[in-house]
Amino acid sequence: MLNVTEPRQAKLSGATTLEITDITADAARIPGFDAHEQVWLGRDAVRGLTAIVSIHTTVLGPALGGTRIWPHVSFEAGVTDALRLSRGMTFKSAIAGLPLGGGKAVIIADPKTDKTPAMLEAYAEMLVALEGQYVTAEDVGMTLADADFLAERAPNVSGTTKGGSGNPSPFTAQGTFLGLKAALRHRTGSDELKGIRVAVQGLGSVGWSLCEKLHAEGAVLTVSDLDATRTARAAEKFGATVVEGNAIVAADVDIFAPCALGGMLSAETIPLLKARIVAGAANNQLATAEDGKRLVERGILYAPDYVINAGGVINVAAEMTEGGYHVEAVMPRVEQIAGTLTRIFQRAEREGRTTDAVAEAMAREIVEAAWT
Ligand code: NAD
Repeated sequence: MLNVTEPRQAKLSGATTLEITDITADAARIPGFDAHEQVWLGRDAVRGLTAIVSIHTTVLGPALGGTRIWPHVSFEAGVTDALRLSRGMTFKSAIAGLPLGGGKAVIIADPKTDKTPAMLEAYAEMLVALEGQYVTAEDVGMTLADADFLAERAPNVSGTTKGGSGNPSPFTAQGTFLGLKAALRHRTGSDELKGIRVAVQGLGSVGWSLCEKLHAEGAVLTVSDLDATRTARAAEKFGATVVEGNAIVAADVDIFAPCALGGMLSAETIPLLKARIVAGAANNQLATAEDGKRLVERGILYAPDYVINAGGVINVAAEMTEGGYHVEAVMPRVEQIAGTLTRIFQRAEREGRTTDAVAEAMAREIVEAAWT
């Protein structure tokens, strides 16, 4: 049980209602901890902020990763989410060959009802206080407009419209689309999507854009989202079959593309899958490492999430290259995701390991080589 009682380190000066606490030692006792460098808690009771900034590594560069605004069921669940997401960012950037470390932030709040300018102002103060150790961007619940709002108040915000790389989602969707086709080609020898049945869970920025691409190439779609207006729109625009809630996992399809939140591949759901391929953009799809093995046992090919969904961070990282951001330099790098995945699929087969174990080993090799 995570129990934060007193601040260990406050990095703020002047009059503020924000309190920042180093909770690394507390976080080390809960699921998701993996020798993280530092975990910060920002709390502001007046402005309604509870934010966790998790720095997994800064070995390859500054810890970059988006801010997720989501009403987690408990504080501990929020910290675990931040820990797992930031670890995924280390692996994602390493495999994509980016000079970035892994970080992620979680604000425990409902983005529809709790996200206020005052809350974001308090969060911007926290980012300033972290002095560039963490660089943020968009994630679930944080919009482009929010990123712009933060960037006016804090220096370490990427993915903004003003001088930044803008919305990462189209790049994530493109990488996911190409990765999905690479998985299909690996499994069947062809990446022809016409008539291939794909279930897309989550019709947000990435899921919707992925549906557009799949539909354009003739895939047959089944979709789900918590928001009924989105599923209705998908039915109308793509002729998609709509299913309620978690029934999407058991949909009778060839490919399952998770594009909502994580943890949907578990001991409970994997036996229900009819798809032979899992290839989608959501972070942290496997509830536990054991679930990678469960997928293999069922003969299901899994495209590791942090490899297939790297398009967004590849785009954001282009802001930091010499000479500034140029969109035309980004797409060729996003296209490399397909080749990287194919190499992972082949190595997994050769070595008799799961694809996620191979991806993690590749990422750790890269980080360790930089460390020594
Ligand atoms: P988003 O907030 O735009 O969309 C998420 C969608 O999922 C929403 O429509 C929401 O209603 C829906 N949803 C939530 N829980 C659901 C459930 N249980 N069943 C069905 N639908 C559900 O988010 P996004 O930017 O599209 O990101 C989607 C996923 O991809 C997230 O896991 C995110 O971390 C990951 N990802 C996004 C990017 C990016 O560039 N946006 C990059 C890498 C990874």
